[in-house]
Amino acid sequence: MKSDFEELDDETRKFMLQEFDIEQSSINPYISPRLSDIGKKIFPELMKKAIISGDAESLETSLRRQDYWKEKEVYTRNGVTKERIINYQQASEQLAFSEFNTWYVRGLSKKLLTKGIEKCQVYRVKDAKWEPGDCSSHEGQIVDTKIIYDGHRAKYWPVINKSAFSIPAQAGCHHSIRRVR
Ligand SMILES: [Zn+2]
Repeated sequence: MKSDFEELDDETRKFMLQEFDIEQSSINPYISPRLSDIGKKIFPELMKKAIISGDAESLETSLRRQDYWKEKEVYTRNGVTKERIINYQQASEQLAFSEFNTWYVRGLSKKLLTKGIEKCQVYRVKDAKWEPGDCSSHEGQIVDTKIIYDGHRAKYWPVINKSAFSIPAQAGCHHSIRRVR
């Protein structure tokens, strides 16, 4: 399924790259814990390429290599900690889409702010077979562009704050932002 980023033009890419570079030069830039050491090393480069001239699908293709991923991960559900195998094909699709969308939202919201556009709209950028239940609450919502900009990774990085408002909202969220029509 292809994603439909409506305003992925050169100007938006420029803002995405600017925001990405700022995070990369910070003390502790976000990196997916599911990536292997090799994957962690190469990811910023692949992400940058996708921002400059690719998209979520090209990033997915570049990530689909077993050696970029850990074989297993530890997770906790209902207080019980277990181990599971990482399906690297699925993981590539999920990470590519969520990271590309995260940078698109951050870059586009910055672009709109610099143009004095104070409101934007949440929309589904990609069809999904499944999505989290609370995703229906932000579908079509008109929100302050500044809140979207400040909501960048606000739920999980650098600290966990589950009550923060963010787009994408959570793992499996297929929402992005666009101009209000
Ligand atoms: Zn959502």
